Amino acid sequence: MMDLNSPITNLPKVGPILTRKFEKLGVASIGDLFYHVPNRYIDYSLITTISRLHPDETATIHAKIISIKNIYSKRGLKMQIGSVEDATGKIAVIWFNQPFLIKTLYPGRSVSLSGKVGFFGRKLCMTSPDYELLGDVEKPTVHTGRLVPVYPETSGLSSKWIRTLMLSAFGSLNLDSSDFLPEKVLTKLDLVNLKDAIQKVHFPKNLKEAGGGVERLAFNELLNLELTSLRRKINWKKNKVANKLIINKSEVNKFLDSLPFKLTNSQVTATAEILADLTKDYPMNRLLEGDVGSGKTVVAAAASFAVFLNGFQTIIMAPTQILALQHYQTFKKLLTPFGVKISLVTSDVKKADLGRQDVFIGTHSLIHNKVDFDRVGLVVIDEQHRFGVEQRKHLVKKSGTPHVLTMTATPIPRTVALTSYGDLDLSVLTEMPEGRQKVTTWFVPETKRDGAYVWIKTQIKNQIKNNKSQAFIVCPLIEDSEFETMADVKSVTTEFEKLKKILVGFRLGLLHGRLKPPEKDSVLRGFVDRKTDVLVTTPVVEVGLDIPNATIMVIEAAERFGLAQLHQLRGRVGRGMAKSYCLLFSNIKYSKRLRAMEKMHSGFELAELDLALRGPGEIFGTAQSGFPELKVASWNNYALIKKAKDTALDIVKNPSGYPKIGRMSDSEANLG
Ligand code: ADP
Ligand code: MG
Repeated sequence: MMDLNSPITNLPKVGPILTRKFEKLGVASIGDLFYHVPNRYIDYSLITTISRLHPDETATIHAKIISIKNIYSKRGLKMQIGSVEDATGKIAVIWFNQPFLIKTLYPGRSVSLSGKVGFFGRKLCMTSPDYELLGDVEKPTVHTGRLVPVYPETSGLSSKWIRTLMLSAFGSLNLDSSDFLPEKVLTKLDLVNLKDAIQKVHFPKNLKEAGGGVERLAFNELLNLELTSLRRKINWKKNKVANKLIINKSEVNKFLDSLPFKLTNSQVTATAEILADLTKDYPMNRLLEGDVGSGKTVVAAAASFAVFLNGFQTIIMAPTQILALQHYQTFKKLLTPFGVKISLVTSDVKKADLGRQDVFIGTHSLIHNKVDFDRVGLVVIDEQHRFGVEQRKHLVKKSGTPHVLTMTATPIPRTVALTSYGDLDLSVLTEMPEGRQKVTTWFVPETKRDGAYVWIKTQIKNQIKNNKSQAFIVCPLIEDSEFETMADVKSVTTEFEKLKKILVGFRLGLLHGRLKPPEKDSVLRGFVDRKTDVLVTTPVVEVGLDIPNATIMVIEAAERFGLAQLHQLRGRVGRGMAKSYCLLFSNIKYSKRLRAMEKMHSGFELAELDLALRGPGEIFGTAQSGFPELKVASWNNYALIKKAKDTALDIVKNPSGYPKIGRMSDSEANLG
């Protein structure tokens, strides 16, 4: 028996080649296939007769081929020209560049033709209609004569293929009792059942019906996310910490009072939330979210100090060596006066050395380190999107069941935080420390590019006397992918060569992800040490890297970035005292999104705006930002997300009301 989980190879005519193509579309099982929803529909539902066709109308006719032949136009274009008839009349038909057509559509064959009616000379004609052979037995048409779905395609896998397969899949499965939600629940939620939804999405009678089908599939997708994170949260809370911690408020306050500044209100709140978590008997799993520069580090330092006071160790994991070093210096400055021993973990540190330390700081090499951490009370993960879930699990397992604090500067929109990160408790730093300057931001259209280079040169020159100003120039990745390709490296290298000719007399550095770690470190070091004036780079510019003397951020093809990402890049400058600028280069004339960057300076607001302005599937450069991608649902659909969240909660609370999914299976129980 085939079901939704069966691989598509179980369907007739699906071999390895087709399977690989479907893989590119994220489709492996028959269920995946049904969740591959159309981008749009072409309305071929008007079925009429030849005598009733009007110019300019889009219609479907059922007719017989009378004649067809390949001819060449004067310009050498190959055309297929013919005529068809039904009981009411005849009409000409033309296709272009499909010489093979005459092998299928030869005289005498019955066809269904859908398309726009136009003129050929003075006669009515259908130009490049979609066609489909009609057999002797009457059956519903797939590519013509209805609301025809147009799917996301990939090379060699057209909508026509997908439609054919969709029909065969739908026909070969018995979906009558496939729904995992009881009828009663569906009625309450005002959702159609699963079988109807699949039928309505792929074989709709009208657009409204299709919309209802899509809504149900979108709901399922969201419910799945909600349930996964909810169950993860429940499982997490089943963990017990090895040793309960006690917070020594007055000692922690001594540390906070020693800081050269007053904490912001949200730093105070976040610190309190974290310290409260540390006293629980299940481990903390909290996300500390705050714009670049909002001061997450001191909050983490306060937490690690509280852990130290209990005699336990803290592990701080940074995404890069350079950032680890930066944290090391900060922590040393802040905590050494209180007797805390801090250690930067590199590959050659010995086990014996580590035993006596209180705070370890390192990169993910910490995971592979031979050292067993035995007294770990807290793990802090900086910039979580750089770490895979697997790595994180590994580290947490390796160190017992410690409290986990994850920090990120990526503004996660509310809806995303509620669904995909629903298992994490959230602390948000909503304000910047006082006196922090805003980075003046300009949208720079192509016509102003030359002027901008002149301006940059003067800026660097002017400030060079007191040794202050440096610039980043960021080039986008060519394809929207998480990793850099050779093409990206080539393009940033070309840009680098070009800029050398434009910024004559300035010292340029080149940074991209394909550099070996020592090369990368040395390029970055050169910039940190002011040996270079301009750093030309792909978007790898280290997240969180603190270079106070960099005051200019230039972003090429800025329209290709999501606002959240632009905001993060902009956060690389404006970290020192000097006035800082962000220049958004773009060859488009006007962009609402880029103009918004000039006015808005909160990462959260920008992320929400981007979500509102860009459609599903294009959420702020999903692949690059590491955000979860939705196939069917949209992050903008607050109402549906709420519905899914409430349903997930209800499922967990009243499992008996949901016989098919109420109880957690073993595999699900391991998700945490
Ligand atoms: P991020 O959240 O990006 O990690 P950091 O923790 O690196 O930010 O803090 C950025 C800078 O702001 C640091 O130099 C830090 O000492 C400083 N800082 C943090 N909190 C405050 C505050 N409340 N008032 C003034 N400066 C602060
Ligand atoms: Mg930081």
